[in-house]
Amino acid sequence: MTQDASNEAIDAVSNWYDCVIVGGGPAGLTAAIYLARFHLAVRVLDAGQSRTRLIPKTRNHAGYPGGIAGIELLNRMAAQAEESGAILTNGRVHDLVKHEDGFLIRCEDMNLHARSVLLATGVTNRRPEMTVDLHDEALGRGLIRYCPICDGFEVTDTRVAVIGTGSHGLREAIFLRSFTADVTLIAPDGPHALEDSDRRSAAEADVVLIDGPADDFSIDDARLSLATGAGRLSFDSIYPALGSIIRSELARPTGAEMSDEGCLLVDAHQRTTCAGLYAAGDVVLGLDQISHAMGEGGVAATTIRNDLAKLRPLLR
Ligand SMILES: Cc1cc2nc3c(=O)[nH]c(=O)nc-3n(C[C@H](O)[C@H](O)[C@H](O)COP(=O)(O)OP(=O)(O)OC[C@H]3O[C@@H](n4cnc5c(N)ncnc54)[C@H](O)[C@@H]3O)c2cc1C
Repeated sequence: MTQDASNEAIDAVSNWYDCVIVGGGPAGLTAAIYLARFHLAVRVLDAGQSRTRLIPKTRNHAGYPGGIAGIELLNRMAAQAEESGAILTNGRVHDLVKHEDGFLIRCEDMNLHARSVLLATGVTNRRPEMTVDLHDEALGRGLIRYCPICDGFEVTDTRVAVIGTGSHGLREAIFLRSFTADVTLIAPDGPHALEDSDRRSAAEADVVLIDGPADDFSIDDARLSLATGAGRLSFDSIYPALGSIIRSELARPTGAEMSDEGCLLVDAHQRTTCAGLYAAGDVVLGLDQISHAMGEGGVAATTIRNDLAKLRPLLR
């Protein structure tokens, strides 16, 4: 900890929380509900880019026959967290500094201090090359999709493409074959990077392989069209399988261990390898689903409560 940070930690005692949660998606908001209901002082800092916000309607999340819009689900969770006593604040956390009493958290123009921190910062999908407006319209109409586990059911027996290559792209294309017979794997730029064994697997699963490019997108009637190495093609839905950026950079200075891709490594109770720092949701290696994020948020919150109780009795 720098001297500067140390002084601030001593000065701003009024800004102390039992837990600061970075990220207000399903993982962070679930943890906030639990922690507030444990009578702990909890504050959520959120930059407002939850992947759940992008879901026009989730239909695989249990408890909502007919589905629920991602934004509506988040609003309900936020309302529940606030009515339980959590403080929710919009803002991006820039810095996390570990010190002997806990953490200093710098967010916009605020400095907060916490005995524990939960990182629930999620991931960002890499997008195909297209304007934001076109992307958002295509996403809203189900022409672009990012999660075959979530919505493969919705593309049953339709014409589907995956943009990607290598074993990751091929896995996603073969996964989609259990929903529809018409699956094409398009390399993002240039020839496919596939081993002979991958090409055999694609042939066995009847996945059509098309070399790149994959660009110049447009919405034509009810389909999404693009330029490919085999000319212009159109599909009912296109799944980008271009990987994602793991939003774990705040944890780097704390020395918490991560996978090669940057996912935070946690024990069975969501503790990272940095004492007092916990992680839940997509930022941890896992299923990347709302239910999984919520489950990890609940586990993390209960662990945080029990770990704090070892430091000082939580007596009412
Ligand atoms: C198009 C699409 C459709 C999907 N459909 C489904 C579905 O139907 N069913 C399903 O189960 N899952 C679905 N998913 C996956 C689901 O959205 C994610 O698994 C879920 O949102 C993960 O929750 P999380 O809390 O871990 O992260 P997120 O919901 O991504 O929330 C992370 C939050 O942390 C914030 N944050 C990050 N860094 C900082 C920082 N430095 N300071 C402050 N805040 C920060 C972000 O702004 C964001 O608000 C879908 C995903 C996409 C993209």
